[in-house]
Amino acid sequence: MSGENSSADGVQRVWDVVVVGAGPAGASAAYAAAVAGRRVLLLEKAELPRYKTCGGGIIGPSRDALPPGFELPFKDRVHAVTFAHNGRFTRTRRSKQMLFGLINRPEFDQQLVEHAQKAGAELRTGATVQRVEQHGSAVPDRRTVAVVLQGGETVLARAVVGADGSASRIGAHVGVKMDQVDLGLEAEIPVPDTVAEDWKGRVLIDWGPLPGSYGWVFPKGDTLTVGVISRRGEGAATKRYLEDFIARLGLAGFEPSVSSGHLTRCRAEDSPLSRGRVLVCGDAAGLLEPWTREGISFALRSGRLAGEWAVRIAEAHDAVDTRRQALNYAFAVKAGLGVEMSVGKRLLAAFERRPGLFHAALTGFRPAWKAFRDITSGASSLGEMVRSRPLAQRTIALLDRGQAAAMTDEDEDLVDS
Ligand SMILES: Cc1cc2nc3c(=O)[nH]c(=O)nc-3n(C[C@H](O)[C@H](O)[C@H](O)COP(=O)(O)OP(=O)(O)OC[C@H]3O[C@@H](n4cnc5c(N)ncnc54)[C@H](O)[C@@H]3O)c2cc1C
Repeated sequence: MSGENSSADGVQRVWDVVVVGAGPAGASAAYAAAVAGRRVLLLEKAELPRYKTCGGGIIGPSRDALPPGFELPFKDRVHAVTFAHNGRFTRTRRSKQMLFGLINRPEFDQQLVEHAQKAGAELRTGATVQRVEQHGSAVPDRRTVAVVLQGGETVLARAVVGADGSASRIGAHVGVKMDQVDLGLEAEIPVPDTVAEDWKGRVLIDWGPLPGSYGWVFPKGDTLTVGVISRRGEGAATKRYLEDFIARLGLAGFEPSVSSGHLTRCRAEDSPLSRGRVLVCGDAAGLLEPWTREGISFALRSGRLAGEWAVRIAEAHDAVDTRRQALNYAFAVKAGLGVEMSVGKRLLAAFERRPGLFHAALTGFRPAWKAFRDITSGASSLGEMVRSRPLAQRTIALLDRGQAAAMTDEDEDLVDS
């Protein structure tokens, strides 16, 4: 769809908010700004629906951050998790309540964009943003940002939200700093009914052979999404892990319909979230959980905040007010998602040192499984858990010191009570 960039009298239109990238972060930002009654343009380089390398796991916080009336297009509902440690010590844990749901990203993302459009946002696909300019000849005044598209066309906005994913151009403009880069490899594997039936309602999580790595099987009806993730820099070993993983599962004989890879990046704690009238959110800001690399809930939640604060920035009349609103956005992100990220970072550091301990805890230590269940189902979050549960606080502190093996039965009682 193409947008009208100038009004009838030929004067170039100035949008209140321009959002770059129509993934979950961008669609959420566009929705939030549009329901506030602002003129919103959502720019996306691809045609929709577009493929995105992703497991499509929708945990409770993702579900809770969706716009009202959004019906999740679940391909499966997870009630059981099989844990393995590099193919060994396999154990399945089950739950009566649904743990999390599984979706296909092209469908899910398109539906989110449609919600933003229904709220009044205008979508323009096939529009690749090259850069933004906040000074210079393309910018008519201090309250305006110029968004320059491939081909040279310029779109004007009072505020811009960068939601253009992990290789973000808007993130580069803002100066986002990343301190963790991972490589995710995935295969979409169509399987016969008998195989699909075996996986229905159950996922597999395999703690991998490389530090911090893990693999997953997420069933989606007649297709299994099988993937692995590991630190960047071990490309050949990560590829070998995926191949071995698929072979071990007896799936090597089925031809994947898609094989793809994607880098995920986590922000450094002191990384900026804005520059002038430009905010960043989702992967573009490096917002995702460092241990599991769960990013959809981070994209939805930060996207919504960015949309809300972009509305205020659009109304700001001077640099001081703009700065105040941008700082408020950063504060809101750091107070919620920032806390979850710092717990995730500590968990990842401990997991890299002692993956066997995590496996033993999740398969044999009831409070650990309960924590997993509560977080995936949305009953709690990593941040809440550390704030409100003494055992979680002590466990994290022990893990930081590499002494988790010293946990006692007394600890277990604490969490159950
Ligand atoms: C292998 C793998 C598995 C994962 N599994 C899960 C999972 O199961 N659950 C989960 O919660 N998270 C998962 N994640 C993380 C999750 O995919 C991301 O965190 C999430 O997609 C971030 O959403 P986003 O909207 O910020 O970015 P994206 O979804 O990447 O969207 C960015 C959009 O911007 C567009 N764009 C990019 N550049 C431009 C440009 N210059 N101009 C215009 N448009 C542009 C892109 O085309 C894209 O549509 C996984 C990640 C990987 C790599």
